[in-house]
Amino acid sequence: MASLIDPKNTVEVLKKYGFSFSKRYGQNFLIDVHVLDKIISAAEITKDDVVLEIGPGIGTLTQALAENAGQVFAVEIDDALIPILENDTLAAYDNVTVIHNDILKVDLKALSEEKCGGKPFKVVANLPYYITTPIIMGLLEGDVPVTSITVMVQKEVAERMQSGPGTKNYGALSLAVQYYSEPYLVANVPQNCFMPRPDVASAVIRLTKRPAPAVETANVSLMFDVIKASFVQRRKTLANGLKNAENLHFSKEQAESAIAVLGKGESVRGETLTLAEFAALTNALNEYL
Ligand code: SAM
Repeated sequence: MASLIDPKNTVEVLKKYGFSFSKRYGQNFLIDVHVLDKIISAAEITKDDVVLEIGPGIGTLTQALAENAGQVFAVEIDDALIPILENDTLAAYDNVTVIHNDILKVDLKALSEEKCGGKPFKVVANLPYYITTPIIMGLLEGDVPVTSITVMVQKEVAERMQSGPGTKNYGALSLAVQYYSEPYLVANVPQNCFMPRPDVASAVIRLTKRPAPAVETANVSLMFDVIKASFVQRRKTLANGLKNAENLHFSKEQAESAIAVLGKGESVRGETLTLAEFAALTNALNEYL
């Protein structure tokens, strides 16, 4: 079967099945071979790997994954795409399983155990942007066997994932992603690499899951509550952010003495703290629980 990355072939398949794109499902299909090659090489796929693809579309990236990986599981929500994938574009590949479901409802741990003896996945996808954060956080936080995640996301989201303290894109997503993984920006991707063109610029990012979280803390869920509270009002002081947070119940005095443990002044803002400092702050606050 001719490669779908050639826009002529994509158009032909779309016409053959009378397929119309759904904005609701974030459907922007990849049509640029250089970007496809960059995704495959950044994901470092070998015949030993089991790959999980989220949202195969008509199977453009899936075909390349099938050629490079041992086994591919591709989870697609859209009813209209399933017959195209199963009977046509992926029919020639016996190492691909199409799963017709919402990725947010699939038990990935059970899938890995039932179908490949618990072997961890490499996740590779051109993500549906409307659910980027729940997908990424589900893969990182949950009990899902994953070694790396190489994905196309909105450029701005890729920037947030890899930003450090004191920059405008630094926030709760940066800290959550960096706690569980090491982000690496693979490539920026302009709108004309997709059909139809998305409204926003994109980027490919690789998150390599850490064997253990980046920092140790006495209370992980408190740390993420503290992080969230610190960024709700970015321009407010950290002490005020902690005192005003709805789901935290520390007095201003407790917040200030925990901040003092960091050796920071009263006016410090949360956006300047490193992950290690958030962990130390959490340990100090945890003593008041
Ligand atoms: N992989 C294809 C490509 O690169 O050309 C398509 C990528 S397109 C940006 C996103 C895909 O995710 C679409 O096929 C869409 O139908 C699918 N999708 C959207 N929401 C989904 C969900 N909740 N679960 C699984 N797939 C979903």
